[in-house]
Amino acid sequence: MAQIIDGKAVSAAVKAEVAEETAKLRDEKGLKVGLAVVIVGNDPASRVYVNNKKKACEAVGFQSYEYALDESTTQEQLLDLVNVLNRDDRVNGILVQLPLPKHIDEKAVINAISPDKDVDAFHPINVGKIMIGEYSFLPCTPAGVMRLIESTGTDITGKQCVVIGRSNIVGKPQAMLLLQKNGTVTICHSKTKNLKEICLGADILVVAIGRANFVTGDMIKEGAVVIDVGMNRLDNGKLCGDVEFESAEKKASFITPVPGGVGPMTIAMLMKNTLTAAKQQAEIE
Ligand code: NAP
Repeated sequence: MAQIIDGKAVSAAVKAEVAEETAKLRDEKGLKVGLAVVIVGNDPASRVYVNNKKKACEAVGFQSYEYALDESTTQEQLLDLVNVLNRDDRVNGILVQLPLPKHIDEKAVINAISPDKDVDAFHPINVGKIMIGEYSFLPCTPAGVMRLIESTGTDITGKQCVVIGRSNIVGKPQAMLLLQKNGTVTICHSKTKNLKEICLGADILVVAIGRANFVTGDMIKEGAVVIDVGMNRLDNGKLCGDVEFESAEKKASFITPVPGGVGPMTIAMLMKNTLTAAKQQAEIE
């Protein structure tokens, strides 16, 4: 039976580290840390995410600046705001909550954020830096996954790592981070043949597909570390991962639950990135 990886506890530890360093920087260097969060429209899920980010800012001692814009906001108006925030010294990190309304080009908005303030690490410059291993910020969800794997005491070096999903925000950067830790990495996607066979070879399996209970226990190698990034809302309103927990926990050595696994890590790593941004902008090591 697998040990459950407690994402709430690990994320609380990350946030406590950030809070401690933030207080120290304030007391010793007079440095204040600020995160601007921009939301366009009324998507209820986005609203929940933004509120959680604001709460996390307060908890670690950051100033948060919320910009809630109307659904009808034009791309030009949004780009103007991003440019204002790029120049605002109180703002160390800028986060534009995705998805944006259909009439706005997400790429144009991401590209407009100053790479130094791009705490989501979605800007092509930051994506490129991850490829060459010279990054300041790591994308929050994959970075959170790495921290969870680390919490199990698993040495990634030489392990067979399988990532299911190749999105720009999760799957691809996840594979790169595992590679940088010397894992032997296979990336799977919807066109992958013999997925079950590949999964059965995985010492570390990271699943980021967006399909409820897709990975079942018979696809998991005995003793594997299983990280479930998926967040799926069932018809009964319950949140559920991409991994069928009941059958998977019988095979895995460690497994993340949903909720309470990867989810809480994403916000904790966002706080960490914002602190890193503030230190870099103040030229503090
Ligand atoms: P996405 O952009 O929709 O990408 C999904 C990936 O899964 C794609 O690469 C797709 O392959 C692959 N896929 C779909 N069906 C498949 C199948 N039958 N077999 C193998 N691969 C398949 O999703 P995402 O943004 O990466 O998110 C993935 C999941 O993680 C979602 O549930 C999302 O809600 C969750 N998530 C959670 C957090 C968190 O904080 N916990 C953060 C981000 C995302 P193709 O490329 O071939 O289409």
